[in-house]
Amino acid sequence: MEIQDWKTIGFGYRKTNLNVRCYYKNGEWGELELSDSEYLNIHMAATSLHYGQEAFEGLKAFKGKDGKVRVFRMDENAKRMQHSSDGILMPHVPIETFEEAVKLAVKKNIEFVPPYGSGASLYIRPLLIGVGPEIGVRPSQEYLFIVFVMPVGPYFPEGFKPTDLLIMRQFDRAAPLGTGKYKVGGNYAASLTAGKKAKAEGYSAVLYLDAREKKYLDECGPANFFGIKNNTYITPKSESILPSITNKSIIQIAEDMGLKIERRQVPVEELETFEEVGACGTAAVISPIKRVYDADEDKEYLYGNEPGTWSTKLYEKLRAIQDGDAPDPYGWVTVIE
Ligand SMILES: *Cc1c(COP(=O)(O)O)cnc(C)c1O
Repeated sequence: MEIQDWKTIGFGYRKTNLNVRCYYKNGEWGELELSDSEYLNIHMAATSLHYGQEAFEGLKAFKGKDGKVRVFRMDENAKRMQHSSDGILMPHVPIETFEEAVKLAVKKNIEFVPPYGSGASLYIRPLLIGVGPEIGVRPSQEYLFIVFVMPVGPYFPEGFKPTDLLIMRQFDRAAPLGTGKYKVGGNYAASLTAGKKAKAEGYSAVLYLDAREKKYLDECGPANFFGIKNNTYITPKSESILPSITNKSIIQIAEDMGLKIERRQVPVEELETFEEVGACGTAAVISPIKRVYDADEDKEYLYGNEPGTWSTKLYEKLRAIQDGDAPDPYGWVTVIE
């Protein structure tokens, strides 16, 4: 494929060669297996299907100028999947098993890693599902861990461009003491209605408020939120936010660039005071925001049509580490040998 084609492939499912599977039965994990099937043969009473006993991850591999393929922070994804497993009573996938499965899935599909400079990458999707049959509400006795990969286009095919966010108080994504802090499918099902409404009105995502008081910023549907002012990077602290690995990485880079960091409750009205705001996650790294519209208050917050200076710097630095163009002092990338 030409670079131009890679730019337009978008973010969607694509078949690749092989996926990696591992079954949990009788209290233990089996060996990693390779499969060329895109389908699973599971019991119709599987707990993942009925009671949402499933967690997933999302990470990326990038091809460098040197031709090497680098995976970004897979140990963090492995740990987060264990955290999600604790939340919905699934067994831990051992960190080494997770990492071996990711490496094997990338290796077996290495020709699908898009070329350096295309902006495209190989998206890696680990998934853990309860496959044992239960009709009473209880955790499954059997699980399937699977890792599949596909090439995806750059999030911004026409370049790094700000988008709009929408605040609506009639929807919650997750409850304060619920599953918001776990990467589980149920949170996504719960966000589909609000997300559809926001997209239909031209917004890139919903900016959720805290479900209890509707006073503080929580996060965007599939991404964390941050604001920057007075040389300070501010990101909401909340029980219902999914701890983004991108956010964690940006915080580290921001600190090293001399920004102060605040992780705290962020009142909605504080939107007025930010110089730059953005959403962050694996898909876009940083998605700069030019406007937040609070639909209930009929109030808009504007941040300019071009990405802010700090957002641009942070974005470029993180992307450079992922591509192998900048040194990796933090040990974030794993080269696939
Ligand atoms: C996955 C996810 C994010 C982003 O996390 P990254 O590790 O940066 O990709 C943010 N919010 C939610 C709800 C998520 O599921």
